This record gives sequence, C-alpha cells and structure tokens, in this order.
Amino acid sequence: MVDIFATDKLRKAYPEYQQFIALHLYPLERQLLSIPFSEASAILEEKRTLARAMGLWAPYLPAEEGHIGLTMLEFAQISELLATTPYGHYVFNCQAPDIGNIELLHRHASDEQKQRYLKPLTEGAIRSCFSMTEPGHAGSNPLLMSTTAARDGDEWVINGRKWFTTAADGASFAVVMAITDTGTPKYERASMIIVPTNTPGFNLVRNIPVLGDTGDGYHSHSEIEYKDCRVPAANLLGAVGSGFRLAQERLGPGRIHHCMRWIGICERALDLMCRRAVERDMGDGQLLADKQTIQHWIAESRAEINASRYLVLHTAEMLDRLGAKAVRNEISAIKFFVADVLGKVLDRSVQAHGALGLTDATPLSYWYRHERGARIYDGPDEVHKSALARSVLKPYLNLQDQSVK
Ligand SMILES: Cc1cc2nc3c(=O)[nH]c(=O)nc-3n(C[C@H](O)[C@H](O)[C@H](O)COP(=O)(O)OP(=O)(O)OC[C@H]3O[C@@H](n4cnc5c(N)ncnc54)[C@H](O)[C@@H]3O)c2cc1C
Repeated sequence: MVDIFATDKLRKAYPEYQQFIALHLYPLERQLLSIPFSEASAILEEKRTLARAMGLWAPYLPAEEGHIGLTMLEFAQISELLATTPYGHYVFNCQAPDIGNIELLHRHASDEQKQRYLKPLTEGAIRSCFSMTEPGHAGSNPLLMSTTAARDGDEWVINGRKWFTTAADGASFAVVMAITDTGTPKYERASMIIVPTNTPGFNLVRNIPVLGDTGDGYHSHSEIEYKDCRVPAANLLGAVGSGFRLAQERLGPGRIHHCMRWIGICERALDLMCRRAVERDMGDGQLLADKQTIQHWIAESRAEINASRYLVLHTAEMLDRLGAKAVRNEISAIKFFVADVLGKVLDRSVQAHGALGLTDATPLSYWYRHERGARIYDGPDEVHKSALARSVLKPYLNLQDQSVK
C-alpha cells in the first residue's frame, strides 16, 4: 500500500488480505503448483468459502451489493497483493477473464441476463470466458475477424473458430465476439453474444499447450469451434453492432488489472531474489548478495517496480476521476512498460536462483511460463507503442501543417 494513495477503506482492508494470504495461500503454493487445476480446485474452493465468510469476496463490486466497493485506485493496491501468489486473484473472485466479464455484464446485461449469468458469476458458482481471437487472423487487428452470428427467427446462429479463449474448459458460458452485419461501418460490424458452453455446436477442440503446459480447467487456453451454434436472440449483450465499443470498454480497465497483477508478481520475484541472495554461500566468505551483478539486478528491479507502481496508480486514479476514454494514452504506456519490467524482473530472479529457479520449488518458473504472454495479450507491445506515439506526434504534425501554410 502506498501511503499517499491510501484511504480509510484501504487501510482497513489491506492488512486483512495480507493476513489471509500469509496464513492460507503462501503455505499451499508448493502443493498447488505441483497438481493440475482439477485437483487444486477442491482446496481452492475451501479458501474461497473462507474469503466469502470474511467479507473479502470480489472487493471491486459495489458496497450497496454487500461488497467492499473499492475504487480502481484502491483495488489496484489490493490486486498487487493478491498477485504475489499464483491463485490469489482466483480465491477472491478477482481473476481474469471473469472480472472483465463481471464488469461488462454489470453495465450492459439485461435484467434476465444479470439473473442468469451475472449473479452466479459474482457468487463464484460458475466461471466464464471471453472468445474473440481467431487462429486465422491477426488478433492485433480484431476487425479482421470471420466468426459470424446470423439472425434466424428468435435465434443467433454462430459459426467460426476461436483460440486462446482463456479458462473455457469448465466455464459455464462464453462472451463471443461475432460479425452480425457486414454492411455497416467496420467498427459497427460485430456484436457480443452470451453462449452457454453446453449449447450444441459449442465444441471445445483442445486446450492449447503454452510453453509446454497444456493445463486444465481455469488454468488453460482453449481452441473452440462454433458450428451452427444456436442461442436465443435475447443472449445479445448490448445493442447489435456495439461489440467493438464494448470490447474497448472491457479492455481499458482490464489492462490496468493486468498491470496491477504484474507489479505484485514483480514484488514477489524481487523478494525471492533477495532471500536467495543472502542465503546462497558462494565460497571464499562471499554470499550471492556480495556479487555486484546481483546487487545491480536488485537495485534495477527495485527502481523499475517503483516506477511501474506510480505509473499504474496514477492511471487508476485518473480512470476513477475521468473515465477510461480519457486515459487511453496512459493505459497504452503502462501496458508495454510494466509488461517489459515484469519480463526483466522475473528473468533476473530465475537467473539468481540458478537451476532452482527452473523448478517448481518457487512460483518463479510458473510465472516465467505463464507471463511471457503479457507482452502479447490485450494488445502486443508494438501496437500500444504505435498508438502512444501517434498521440504524442499529433500536435507536431499539426505544427507542420501550419508551417507549410
Ligand atoms: C496467454 C494468452 C491468453 C489469451 N487470452 C485470450 C482470451 O481469453 N480471449 C481472446 O479472445 N484472446 C486471448 N488471447 C489472444 C490475444 O489477445 C492475441 O494473442 C493478441 O491480440 C495478439 O494477436 P495474435 O496472437 O494473433 O498476434 P498477431 O496479431 O498475429 O501479431 C503478431 C506479432 O506481430 C507484431 N505486431 C502486431 N501488430 C503490430 C503493429 N501494429 N505494429 C508492429 N508490430 C505489430 C507483434 O509483435 C505481435 O506480437 C490470449 C493470448 C495469450 C498469449
């Protein structure tokens, strides 16, 4: 918690989460990391029940609905804490992609959709997924999508193939992006549709191995075929043609969520590196911590994590005050900046641990495998850098126009 960004609500909640994690999650890490999700879920379910009973469940949801009701700035600081252990977000129902779908449904679902999908999702009775990227097209430009949803009477008929649909295995429904009208302007061609995963034609083809780990359940990324998959017309989320607008709305705060999580992972990786540095005897009376290279890694990591934290909290504070649209540039900046810091800090910590860093004795190897995607998902680095550069250059291009005249 950063003192200048602390509030009374945060001062109360922060130590409660801190204590929960220290007592109930850190001690389980080694066991949970060595078993598939299907086995880990029973243990995690006990912890989720406890989190609910202690009033720590989904703290980003409104106080009037019985939750803590944290602002983005407050949640950023709790989220960092949850990220210091691999299942931290999951235990408190703060995990992607559910948190993004919860926020989306909260704003745009009809009353019936809220009752049927949002309620059990916020209660943690079911899981969900978000199905947009396709193997046949550059995900960096989602306008290229080919999955279609055609209206047939009171139903949408969906056809297409998606991949990297995170956590689809065992999810109860998917929010699917599909082209609903090819005649309209390109940004109004797609819509979001809720598809229960037990619908005939929703075919989970496989869980995709990611750097050697296929995973299962919540902990997987699936390829999905939608083949004449029919859902009621009432499953449309928002208006026809609003898909890209809703996706932008979902992705803005979602990118802040990722950055907050990455900072927590960096903190833990640095903590592990420091512990190892003062424990490891290198001979001749020297510890690993006495080596200048290690000292520089520790110093660089400290500085980079601090810089990331202030950038992210500043963006979260602006988002609370001004809304997601006004902080587009800040979101692009933190997305590539913090993803890069995450890669560097994790790599240094693995290296400082030597061979041990590649084993599952610490969460480092788990994060090393699963967080390489940080520079790719929710917009690759290059896309965010170009978007930010365009915005920075805009006034200069206007100047040039004036000087030509
Ligand atoms: C772990 C993980 C989880 C994911 N979860 C989901 C999910 O739940 N749901 C979902 O729908 N999708 C998900 N995705 C997919 C993700 O959103 C896409 O991978 C991402 O949008 C990039 O698309 P692509 O993989 O097709 O890469 P491409 O678009 O083919 O891009 C390949 C590379 O080209 C370069 N590039 C792209 N555009 C530019 C540019 N404008 N300028 C310069 N270089 C450029 C970048 O280096 C980029 O990495 C996930 C991906 C990963 C890795």
